[in-house]
Amino acid sequence: MSGKGTTLIIHGVPISPGLAEGIIHVHRAPFGPVDAPADINQHEVDEEVSRLDAATLRVSNDLFALAAKVEKEIDSRLAGVFEAHQLIVKDSSLQEEMRREIADNLVSAGSAVKAVMLRWEKKFLLMESQVFRSRGDDVRDISNRLSNALAGITVHALDDIPRGCILATSRLLPSDTVFLANRSTSAVLLEYGSKGSHAALFAREIGLPCISGLRDLLITVSDGASALVDGDTGTVTIHPRKKQKADFRKNSRDKERTHHLGLEHAQSPAVTRDGVTISVLANVGCNDDTEWAMLNGADGIGLYRMERAYLGRVVPPSIDELLEEMRRTLESAKGRPVCVRLLDIGADKPLAFMRFLAETNPSLGRRGIRFLRDYPELLEAHLRAVLKLAGEFDVSLLVPMVALPDDVSAVKERISRLGSEMQTSSLPKLGAMIETPAAALSAREIAKHVDFLSFGTNDLTQYAFAADRENAAVERYFNDSADVIFRLLRMTHDDVPDVPLSVCGELAGRPAHLSKLLRCGIRTLSVVPPLVPAVKEAVRNSSCT
Ligand code: PEP
Ligand code: MG
Repeated sequence: MSGKGTTLIIHGVPISPGLAEGIIHVHRAPFGPVDAPADINQHEVDEEVSRLDAATLRVSNDLFALAAKVEKEIDSRLAGVFEAHQLIVKDSSLQEEMRREIADNLVSAGSAVKAVMLRWEKKFLLMESQVFRSRGDDVRDISNRLSNALAGITVHALDDIPRGCILATSRLLPSDTVFLANRSTSAVLLEYGSKGSHAALFAREIGLPCISGLRDLLITVSDGASALVDGDTGTVTIHPRKKQKADFRKNSRDKERTHHLGLEHAQSPAVTRDGVTISVLANVGCNDDTEWAMLNGADGIGLYRMERAYLGRVVPPSIDELLEEMRRTLESAKGRPVCVRLLDIGADKPLAFMRFLAETNPSLGRRGIRFLRDYPELLEAHLRAVLKLAGEFDVSLLVPMVALPDDVSAVKERISRLGSEMQTSSLPKLGAMIETPAAALSAREIAKHVDFLSFGTNDLTQYAFAADRENAAVERYFNDSADVIFRLLRMTHDDVPDVPLSVCGELAGRPAHLSKLLRCGIRTLSVVPPLVPAVKEAVRNSSCT
């Protein structure tokens, strides 16, 4: 189809920022390989089971190689996703269920894979927790791999997408994202997919604009249509008029200019107009993040999310393994302050090596420090590793999901005891995350045990408004820049005016709210690596009074 047509503006949920102009490529997921015949005879059961075993081995080997390639060439967090897929595909209960499906229902290996994986996918999709729901994407991805291996298909459906296109598709699976990086796609439009999905995370990391929640996208847009994608606002203009194109390009140039200006000054400190130096730190999860953060001028690391070191493992990491992982991740920030957050895991992000009690409302259940207090051996291993790290780095330690003063006093008592036992010369500074209204309202009590407070405004908003941060249906209640949130910040500052305050939730990265944050006494901001230059530049144009 030509680029001409009636102009149409559609709106979705922005899940990765940025502007892009280009030609739409509509990708409809194939129905999957036909694996006929579905029904088999009793004497064919063994043969089908062997085919399943061979396909599993092949997929497992492919995933191993893919994880290594992605780790080296693209992104270590995405590599971790494929490592987890490898564990799932070899999972003995999954294998057993597929074998039983072949033998009991007398169906081919391909039919068994589809039936069993669909059951698993549905189980995940019906779960309340967003983390589990996005596991549905993982299961579908693995199912496609197994089905393709059984049918002898070796090419990926996205192999032939045109370079630089705007990809319009229903949903993105982790495997698809690898092709997007290679093909330099300029933007992605999706019918389904949340901000917390792997695809969203990955798109944000590689700076690929992405909009989701575009209902009936594949019916509305046609292949070859020209489009303007605004990943900052979630707007897509299809068949734009001349004037719309000109305005869009001007907006794009302005943003580019601000970005370059920010980059030029990125390595200089961020000092407000009234002479106050604000630390602009970075939120990281792996060594690529830290390297990027340092290139972008981050003054240090304000939030190191350690969950990756634990997820997908069959045994907990040892103290030395934790230490090694932290060293690797933080290497390029040596000499600058780095803040390690204790494992923020709970019933909605289960660890393979732990038995979890089912909780009806996991976000209100045993998360973060609540979980660690119940498993002191995990807390102790983590603290020992951090104490060792403190001999090499300028480390501070952050306690997640604090609601009670003794959530932090328990950690303080433990770290002091371990410090004396290990004869550590100085203990890391201790901070509490303020991400529950209860913590904000008991700042005076909490502050007695810590050196600083860091607002996790993502969770603070979720708990203040009782609105699941990942649930699009209650999105209008989830407003992290509402007066309610600033009041909690202000009250905390008034209650503990001498305690250093930082913000490490997404609100910290939004220059429009910077002045208000500064007026609430915030002197440290921690943001994703790509935002560091722009936030520093915004600080230079603001004042604290
Ligand atoms: C937050 O809640 O704002 C935060 C920074 O922690 P996370 O997003 O990891 O829950
Ligand atoms: Mg949080």
